[in-house]
Amino acid sequence: MIQSLDQKALADLLRRPHLRRLLEAFNGGDAETRVVGGAVRNALLGRPVMEVDCATTIMPDDIMRRAAKAGFKPVPTGIDHGTVTVVVDGEPFEVTTLREDVETDGRYAVVHFGHDFETDARRRDFTMNALSLGLDGGLYDYTDGVADLAARRVRFIGNAHTRIREDYLRILRFFRFHAEYAEGDPDPEGLAAAGAERQGLTILSRERIRHELLRLLAARRAEDTVRVLAEHGFLTWLLDGVAEFGRFHRAIAADAEKPVAIWRLAALAVTIEEDAERLRERLRLSNDEQRKLDAYAHLVRVLKVWPEPLNPIAIRRLVAEHGVETLAAVLPALAGEPLPVIRDNALDAFQRFESGGEPVPVFPLRGADLVERGIPKGPRIGELLAFARRNWLSEGCPTDEATAARLLRRVLDKAEAP
Ligand code: ATP
Ligand code: MG
Repeated sequence: MIQSLDQKALADLLRRPHLRRLLEAFNGGDAETRVVGGAVRNALLGRPVMEVDCATTIMPDDIMRRAAKAGFKPVPTGIDHGTVTVVVDGEPFEVTTLREDVETDGRYAVVHFGHDFETDARRRDFTMNALSLGLDGGLYDYTDGVADLAARRVRFIGNAHTRIREDYLRILRFFRFHAEYAEGDPDPEGLAAAGAERQGLTILSRERIRHELLRLLAARRAEDTVRVLAEHGFLTWLLDGVAEFGRFHRAIAADAEKPVAIWRLAALAVTIEEDAERLRERLRLSNDEQRKLDAYAHLVRVLKVWPEPLNPIAIRRLVAEHGVETLAAVLPALAGEPLPVIRDNALDAFQRFESGGEPVPVFPLRGADLVERGIPKGPRIGELLAFARRNWLSEGCPTDEATAARLLRRVLDKAEAP
């Protein structure tokens, strides 16, 4: 079964010069340090390995000392729970002392430092996340992770109910890892346990839920997995609202090459501005995420009452007013709905802006232009600019110099009018 996995990638991983230097400095004597978690999993799957995490028998203070002695830069990023970030020639590695859980309250575990790689593996969440790789190339698999990885199956280590009760976030991690790495249906035992323990999600912080949900939405099998979430009663709770599966499907088809989680969330869960507001609260979204959801809702509202088929002039105006990014999220999501009518010529026009072939028109007047012409600073400037901008948009956003001069003249006339 291991044949279906990329063993060569493990050897390649260990040939990375920075990692090698780190492992060589942290092995020997009675110290043992291995690569653990996502890096081993991804290498075996032939996926890109971004961050490399290591587990070690060395105690945290000693990691600091040894790292400094070896010429690395140790940063005590999470030293209380055993994690030191060791920077080797600019590349950071998280090195964590082996741990064993002592107590859990469903949210956070009290951990003690341990000495045993197997105990450390068993406190991890899924079998595919519990593999470790030694400096000599030995792959350690205490939980049948290799078989599950080969079968592309996300499975809890030990009893799924017990593991979920230790940390309810594992429910969402189960679906997130399924969405990214699995084939076929979710593991039935994990799925049943997740459903039965669902109430536990309510004790989690909104930030942690947000993190897992957004990662799930950007995952390879986001669409299937969101369906599963819906069928098993998770989705309505997560979104605190209804899901737009048609828009979500089209959004995913359009952004598959470069998924952006927040736009997928918009397509799935935002129909009106109140949805954006509610999701911000519910998931404690960042200001930037919130702005995107708002912009999405606003543009949907505008397009839903667009009276005629979108044409290239309308697209130019929409791009100037709402920006390429928002339009790139909204147009595919709404495609195929009765309104707006989106024909090929509109999509072609948008494509020219999206590819940068045609520059996004920029409104040519500034407040300073008006001040220069003697209009006193103050709220009146903003009003006049808004008036000029409306004119400019309805004229199709021309950007030549004659336009700027004409707009300015019109504004000055208006300013002088009684
Ligand atoms: P990626 O970072 O690519 O999502 P990863 O496997 O590195 O994947 P992290 O969330 O960074 O995932 O966690 C690192 C490792 O720590 C996991 O592989 C897993 O072994 C363990 N882990 C993380 N969170 C939990 C948890 N809530 N319960 C148990 N083990 C966990
Ligand atoms: Mg990670």
